Amino acid sequence: MEFIRLDNLSKIYARGNQRIHAIDNLSLEIEEGIILSVVGRSGSGKSTLLNLIGGLDRPTDGKIIFKGKDIGSLSKNEQAYHRRRNVGMIFQSFNLIYSYSAYENIMLALIFGGVPKRLRNQRAMELLKNVGLEGRISHKPDELSGGEAQRVAIARAMANNPEVLLADEPTGNLDSITANEIIGLLVEANRGKKKSVIMITHDIDLAHRVSDRIVRLLDGKIAEDYLVKR
Ligand code: ADP
Ligand code: MG
Repeated sequence: MEFIRLDNLSKIYARGNQRIHAIDNLSLEIEEGIILSVVGRSGSGKSTLLNLIGGLDRPTDGKIIFKGKDIGSLSKNEQAYHRRRNVGMIFQSFNLIYSYSAYENIMLALIFGGVPKRLRNQRAMELLKNVGLEGRISHKPDELSGGEAQRVAIARAMANNPEVLLADEPTGNLDSITANEIIGLLVEANRGKKKSVIMITHDIDLAHRVSDRIVRLLDGKIAEDYLVKR
């Protein structure tokens, strides 16, 4: 079955009398189960594209078909449902809730995802264990290293068993050794748990090492799109 299809997608930001075509009439089909890396210089539209697929934003024009449904024309509630159930998002700056512990950050996602109360504790512990954080459950984000905080974010992204992980420069704030560990978790989610992964990265070597396909954006358009032989 078709997974994600972008049809003549555009996102225009209007600022005063300036119109910025962050995504400019872009069409793309993304197959299920792959690791797709999105590369391109700063300002080329990478984050805008990921946010559109994740339902954090709406297109100005065109369609985002996610498993047969047009994500761009959902109601507010349906869009929120898409965000909670279909996608798991991971950001460069982790975006955890800073007054909550690792465990509470995961629990919150499980509550939003509608996981029944009696199942939540076990599920949270299992998610934290999967990212190697069973010894850090009561730590708050500022009591965790950057790599550990990103592990919590990955556990949270996996909480509701999403169809796709969307990662926006997930290793941008990490040293190279920690970055490799974090990428390892994404690869494991792909190979072991069959999650599709769409990842933005600046690191073209990394993209070549782990991706099945690389798309390069330039001015909101696809400048390059190729399969990686591994
Ligand atoms: P990238 O992630 O590739 O660095 P972005 O998707 O963040 O690029 O941004 C693409 C373009 O859209 C940039 O020119 C940026 O300045 C502009 N842009 C992004 N978000 C907004 C916004 N909320 N309002 C206005 N312009 C924006
Ligand atoms: Mg960006």
